[in-house]
Amino acid sequence: MQVTTTAATQTRQGYCTLCRSRCGTLNEVRDDMLVSVRPDASHPTGQAMCMKGKAAPELVHSPHRLRYPMRRTRPKTEADPGWVRIGWDEALAETAQRLGAIKAESGAESVVFAVTTPSGTPLTDSIDWIERFVRLFGSPNICYATEVCNWHKDFAHAFTFGCGMPAADYAQAELIVLWGHNPANTWLAQANAIGRGRAKGAKMVVIDPRPTALARQADTWLPVRPGTDAALALGLIHLLIADARFDEDFVRAWTNAPLLVRGDNGHFLREQDLWPDAEGNRFVAWNEALACAVPYDSAQAAQTQDAANFRLRGAVEIDVGAHRLSCAPAFELLAQGCAAYTPPEVERITGVAEASLRAVADLFGTCRRVAYHAWTGIGQHTNATQAERAVATLYALCGSFDRIGANRVRVGPGVNAVNSLSLLPDAQRAKALGLAERPIGPPRTAG
Ligand code: SF4
Repeated sequence: MQVTTTAATQTRQGYCTLCRSRCGTLNEVRDDMLVSVRPDASHPTGQAMCMKGKAAPELVHSPHRLRYPMRRTRPKTEADPGWVRIGWDEALAETAQRLGAIKAESGAESVVFAVTTPSGTPLTDSIDWIERFVRLFGSPNICYATEVCNWHKDFAHAFTFGCGMPAADYAQAELIVLWGHNPANTWLAQANAIGRGRAKGAKMVVIDPRPTALARQADTWLPVRPGTDAALALGLIHLLIADARFDEDFVRAWTNAPLLVRGDNGHFLREQDLWPDAEGNRFVAWNEALACAVPYDSAQAAQTQDAANFRLRGAVEIDVGAHRLSCAPAFELLAQGCAAYTPPEVERITGVAEASLRAVADLFGTCRRVAYHAWTGIGQHTNATQAERAVATLYALCGSFDRIGANRVRVGPGVNAVNSLSLLPDAQRAKALGLAERPIGPPRTAG
């Protein structure tokens, strides 16, 4: 929308497409040239811009910018590729013809598509349509450039919560936690929302080796040694459990904490382990009031299954066929697994002082509207998957999930996603490269 016109210059409202933040902008256009970009304070995300966005005129008018389809006319072995400009119709027709020929000869899965990150590039508004094309083409093989910054929050988090890390509702939070995340530099819309939350009294914890601007403003800054974030999360879990300061109602009702785990093989105890003729094969919990094992239907609300009486701590001995089997609730195993991460041990591993660790545990133990985001500080280490899962488990203990002022699962408009995975037939999905070797994703450590 054009808002101002002078003889020489027009000011047009828009937004910066150079990353997912989509900052609202006022764009100065002179003689059909973009000459400057500045924040549009009237736009919901237009309070500020980063230097990349402000440099948009240099990108738009760069002589190195690729603006037209180009055809190589010389072999790749030659120094001069011999680029020749061609028309869009010609480029699209030839690309479609050659892709179709490969698909007909070798199957759609033989084409591996590669896309750059949609988070930090102008691809952000196109990626859904690219994925739609690839899925309708029929290939399960897309090589993304997003794993380093997105894997942990979109996928590792889903291993624990069943969904990627939902958006943090900073503006209504009681406690804001920035874990390896510096939105003042990387996500200005979030930085603004954090400012609104802080103005309303939200506490803030920053976990970052560097004294960033937000770290200096935080109530508590934990200068964690790079790559030791998982130990920090386990230490906080240990304190919350040891001091019984977690949200027990949430843990019972919404997590797998009460489910019994077999001591002999580490698998969840199932209904048919106890009652071989059972029609279903539900999980099993120990009901303290009944003093017996009971099936737990995870598809039903826990409150309707006497969840308040489910055991969380301590092993139980259960008759399984002719044998006595020792089982323990998953929560007991979590507590045992974290017990070694005492404050002194966490300080030894992470460099975070015991007093600071306890101060943050106090905040997690008392605040029930916790809005957090964990980003590159977690995602750019070789143990990103398990570190993120430790942080997600810590988050589960504070019972904030999907609350106002916490990380909320937003339900979008009731329309079909243009890039739905259902566009790709199951038979084609099964042909994804590496699926057999790594069915749930990359390994924990490199190599
Ligand atoms: S953060 Fe920077 S690059 Fe991203 S939309 Fe805003 S101005 Fe553009």
